[in-house]
Amino acid sequence: RKTYVTGHGWFGKKRVVRAVDDVSFRVRRGETLGIVGESGSGKSTIGKCLLKLVGIDGGQMLFDGQDIAPLSESAFRPLRKDIQMIFQDPFASLNPRQTVGRIISDGPIAAGKTREQAHARARELLELVRLDASAFDRYPNQFSGGQRQRIGIARALALDPKVLVADESVSALDVSVQAQVLELLRDLQQRLRIGLVFITHDLRVAAQICNAVLVMHQGKVVEYGSPSQIFDAPQHGYTQRLIGAVP
Ligand code: ATP
Ligand code: MG
Repeated sequence: RKTYVTGHGWFGKKRVVRAVDDVSFRVRRGETLGIVGESGSGKSTIGKCLLKLVGIDGGQMLFDGQDIAPLSESAFRPLRKDIQMIFQDPFASLNPRQTVGRIISDGPIAAGKTREQAHARARELLELVRLDASAFDRYPNQFSGGQRQRIGIARALALDPKVLVADESVSALDVSVQAQVLELLRDLQQRLRIGLVFITHDLRVAAQICNAVLVMHQGKVVEYGSPSQIFDAPQHGYTQRLIGAVP
C-alpha cells in the first residue's frame, strides 16, 4: 500500500500562505517516514494535508492507488478512519469530561461497531499501549503526559488505520518517557503494519525510529533519503547545519 503526497498547501482565503510546495514522498505499510525541519518549515501542514484538514491546490495524494487530493468531504469520509493522527499536545485533544474508555470507543461506535465490540477493543488497546485496565473508567487529567500520549495512540489505533501521522508526539515528554513512547510506537507500527508518518523537529528522535527521512526547509523538501544517507552524508547546506546543531 502506498501513499504519495505532492502538492501545494495554502491557508486562508484573503492572506494566502504557501506553506508547503512541491513535496513528494512515499510511505508503505510497516515503514516509518520522518518529517523533520525547523519551526514553520511546513511539517504539520503536510500532516494536515494527509488528513485533508487543509486544502491542496495541486498535485496528487495517492492512497492505495486512489488520488484522494481532489475528493470532497463526503467522498473522503469512508477513508477518513484509515488515516489517523496523534497530536502534539494530547491533553488539548482529549476531552477532559469523557472517560478514557469512551474517548477510545467513540470513533469505532460512530463507524458502526457495537458498544460491546468497541469497549472490548478499547480494553485490548489499553493493554497494547501498556496502560492499566483501570484506565478505562478514568479521565485524561488523571494521567501523566506520557500516559496521555498513550491514550491518544490507543484512540488513533481504535479505527485500525493504515496510516498514522504522529505530529511531535514525543516532543513535550522528558527524555526517558520519550524513549518509552518511541519504543511503543515502533513496536505497534511493526506489529500492526501501519505506515507511520513521524513529524519531529528533533533529528535524534527521527534517527531512532525512521526508515526514511524528509528534511523540510521553508515549505520545500531539501533532502529525502535513508537516515544513514542523511545523517552520514547530508547533501544540503541546511541539513548539514541542522546536523551540526545536534550535540
Ligand atoms: P512547528 O515545528 O513550529 O510545529 P511546522 O513545521 O509544523 O512548525 P507548519 O505548522 O506546517 O510548520 O506551518 C508552516 C507555515 O504555514 C508557517 O509559516 C505557518 O505560519 C503557516 N501556517 C500554519 N497554519 C496556518 C494557518 N492556519 N493560517 C495561516 N498560516 C498558517
Ligand atoms: Mg508543527
